[in-house]
This record gives sequence, structure tokens and C-alpha cells, in this order.
Amino acid sequence: MPVLHGSCLCGGVKFEIAGPLTPPSNCHCSMCRKQQGAAFRSRARVRAADFKWVQGKHLVKFYESTPGTFRGFCGVCGSPIINKFDARAKAAVFRAAAVSEYGIALATLDDDPGVRPASHTFVGSKAPWFEFTDDLPQYQELPAPY
Ligand SMILES: [Zn+2]
Ligand SMILES: [Zn+2]
Repeated sequence: MPVLHGSCLCGGVKFEIAGPLTPPSNCHCSMCRKQQGAAFRSRARVRAADFKWVQGKHLVKFYESTPGTFRGFCGVCGSPIINKFDARAKAAVFRAAAVSEYGIALATLDDDPGVRPASHTFVGSKAPWFEFTDDLPQYQELPAPY
């Protein structure tokens, strides 16, 4: 598959992904909404081994939003970059992903990843001003295989 390129708003951080993304979903949890400044975070995971920094790794800061979940962002412009997990992560899927996978916001990609969001997650937390306009499955939390 082709290498995907990603970058932040200021262009200081650039990265490449040379492997498949997990099926994306739109996460409506309050933390993703705050982090993205948007109704939801369209996100997927990638294997850490497939992720390569091109430049600006030193600009990325991490905020531990819940124990074991580290939300990375560009320290200059604030764009979300990668999320990392460790064994203390709340969701089992993220504990399983610890060390070996990163979370990615699709909006930081400069190329079409080919895949499309296939569900809405944490819909119980959705913004009151957002209305669903599609028929994708909606989940209260994280279903398998996410
Ligand atoms: Zn930046
Ligand atoms: Zn979320």
C-alpha cells in the first residue's frame, strides 16, 4: 500500500505511515471533542512499527488525559499528532494496543487513507448541537474490533 503522509497545521511536524489503519470511527467522547475542537475525532490506529517521524518529533508534547492514554499534539500549533497508550489505559483495546500501536486523527493526514469512518462511538457523550446525518452504526462506548 502507498505511504501516507501527515502533518500539523504549522508544518513543523511531519510523519509517514507505511502500513494499514484499523477501521476508523468517529469518537464523540468529551475528551476527543475538546482535543479536536470539533464535534468528534475521526480516528484510527496504526502499528507503531509502520509510523515514521519525518521531522519535528521534538515539537510534540503529550498530555495524559486519563491514566495510560497520552494525547500528542504539536507544541507550536496545537494540531493533534499521535496518541500513545500504556498498560494502565482504561479501555482494554488501548491496553492491548499499548506500545505497539498509535492513535491517529484522520484529519492530520495529507493523503487519502482509502478507509472511511465506519461507526460513531461514545455517542452518549455527543455534543448537543451535533445531529447525525448518516446511517453508520452508533455505539455507546467502544465496540470490538476498535
Ligand atoms: Zn505544528
Ligand atoms: Zn474519544
